[in-house]
Amino acid sequence: MPDPHTLNADLHCHSTVSDGILSPRAVAERAHAGGVQLWSLTDHDEVGGQAEARAAAEALGMRYVPGVEISVTWAGQTVHIVGLRIDPFCPELIDGLAETRSGRARRARDIGDALAKVGIEGAYQGALKHVGNPDLISRTHFARWLVDQGYCATIGDVFSQYLSEGRPGYVGHRWAKLSEAIGWIRAAGGIAVMAHPGRYNYTDTQHDALFDEFTALGGGAVEVVTGSHTPDQYRRYANVASHYGLLASRGSDFHGPGEGRVELGALPPLPSTVTPVWHDW
Ligand code: AMP
Ligand code: MN
Ligand code: MN
Ligand code: MN
Repeated sequence: MPDPHTLNADLHCHSTVSDGILSPRAVAERAHAGGVQLWSLTDHDEVGGQAEARAAAEALGMRYVPGVEISVTWAGQTVHIVGLRIDPFCPELIDGLAETRSGRARRARDIGDALAKVGIEGAYQGALKHVGNPDLISRTHFARWLVDQGYCATIGDVFSQYLSEGRPGYVGHRWAKLSEAIGWIRAAGGIAVMAHPGRYNYTDTQHDALFDEFTALGGGAVEVVTGSHTPDQYRRYANVASHYGLLASRGSDFHGPGEGRVELGALPPLPSTVTPVWHDW
């Protein structure tokens, strides 16, 4: 059997079904063109793109793994949990995701009101023009509209000036519990993966408590090589994976061409010290 580390797996990315720019089919084609051999579409809080993604991948001869990225609130901050190899038809998962999505419309109107208070009028209607799935309005859609309108040069600038916690367009939101997200993924036969842990602003104590709880609840893997991590963080989270006995995942977190993130399939391989989450698939 070939060394699983050499497989080009990209197990985290987005389509128009959540806050990506391309359709599931177009993301599949781009992943294939980028050399991806094992692919998962992991839209936020939604599995509506899974059938199209699988069909497109199989037509290209690319192995497909059903996926999702669930929004969780833990210790007052947002954490993302990716579910891989899920059954997208599992009722417990589908109901949990619907519940998780349900607050987004209200929150989006509140974001529009908050931006109006700092002189940005029409942001809610503007963001809606970028939305592919009316059930899934995201801060990313606001960010794209603010860039279009010339308020900021890049999506990243919009987040740091307006949409991140503490900025004028930020509206707090309570997402799923960690135990719920892991429970839904496991009910659907999948494996729960801690997404881009290098992005969270926890203290060291909270960080360790998050991983303790994640593993105790049955979480199985951690993203080590992701578009959100620096090479130092690849090493840090390879050590975290070993320490907690977690498998390791790899994913670009691609959202669209030209959005300043990593291209599908273009990340370095996982460090040799970790076991890839796909090692026995
Ligand atoms: P939401 O689920 O509506 O809170 O939006 C979260 C999404 O915003 C994430 O999935 C990212 O796609 C995007 N995002 C969050 N922070 C940033 C950032 N600093 N730069 C660019 N995109 C970001
Ligand atoms: Mn996103
Ligand atoms: Mn994420
Ligand atoms: Mn993501």
